Amino acid sequence: GVAPSESIEGEENLRSPICCIMGHVDSGKTKLLDCIRGTNVQEGEAGGITQQIGATYFPAENIRERTRELKADARLKVPGLLVIDTPGHESFTNLRSRGSSLCDLAILVVDIKAGLQPQTIESLNLLRMRNTEFIIALNKVDRLYGWQTCKNAPIVKSLKQQPKDVISEFNVELKKVKNQFQEQGLNTELYYKNKEMGETFSIVPTSAVSGEGVPDLLLLLVQWAQKTMVEKLTYVDEVQCTVLEVKVIEGHGTTIDVVLVNGELHEGDKIVVCGLQGPIVTTIRALLTPHPMKELRVKGTYLHYKEIKAAQGIKITAQGLEHAIAGTALHVVGPDDDLEAIKESVMEDMESVMSRIEKS
Ligand code: GDP
Repeated sequence: GVAPSESIEGEENLRSPICCIMGHVDSGKTKLLDCIRGTNVQEGEAGGITQQIGATYFPAENIRERTRELKADARLKVPGLLVIDTPGHESFTNLRSRGSSLCDLAILVVDIKAGLQPQTIESLNLLRMRNTEFIIALNKVDRLYGWQTCKNAPIVKSLKQQPKDVISEFNVELKKVKNQFQEQGLNTELYYKNKEMGETFSIVPTSAVSGEGVPDLLLLLVQWAQKTMVEKLTYVDEVQCTVLEVKVIEGHGTTIDVVLVNGELHEGDKIVVCGLQGPIVTTIRALLTPHPMKELRVKGTYLHYKEIKAAQGIKITAQGLEHAIAGTALHVVGPDDDLEAIKESVMEDMESVMSRIEKS
């Protein structure tokens, strides 16, 4: 296949931003991912997926297509967007890369009728602790009484079509949520009214059921990232890669799902990963990704790559991965590298992962 992360129109050589979805249980995280992806994981397509970690790659092409109606100056400088599905905060805290959060930015999902809930506040605090920028998806707007659905429409267009009562109810709920954020010390504003992004956090009203507001969410994420995170997103050759999950796949043996944050991986690369019984030195047998838009965990056939460039969620097959530990870094051994030194630094990760697990 063609590497989906190859830059299409970016002359600045940016990698795709990596985004997490956080929020209270039932706020609609899975449904929102499904909506963006056009899959139906929430209703059991992949069985129990909410308890797992995956990554979905959205090529710029796809984002452009989905946001056409917004008529924005949609020059996308990043090759795409990589979304990590982090159901619980435990996994989020363990998902780190080089001591900083794996995610460049996050979507904090809030149910418009439920407002801020305990896990919303936990997520909020984690994001602040990690200095991760985020956008608020004020989800389930279609639940407002009398809402007129306008499938996949930009939110301003959709709001224009709502009867007066719906707009008043929307404003009441919005005000409540903004006050609740204020109580947490955070200024928030509807994204299209927000003139000071960065200081004031943007709210995008969405419906994961009808897709309303989802184009806005996608465009805002990408445009904001490429505008404010150029340095962080500038592609470097040095491999930066984190193991998300270790699992047995029929026909492939034990595999690891990784997020390649930076650099490039090749079939045949010699790699070192952290293992329960010491460092695992092995060779990449195959680099696989799901078909674009499909979540890494959805069963099906994979695309094979000779090489693949960051940022990307990848399944790696290799020998001896049985005892690999999720949450640790993967290192590539170059021709001039000192294998012993790499082995040592790989195992340092284990101590920090173990202590994080103990704490949570
Ligand atoms: P999660 O626990 O945050 O992943 O929440 P889910 O995605 O599993 O959603 C919880 C429930 O809310 C499910 O029954 C969804 O179908 C429903 N839901 C999620 N988003 C929306 C939305 O925008 N509108 C409506 N009406 N229901 C939604």
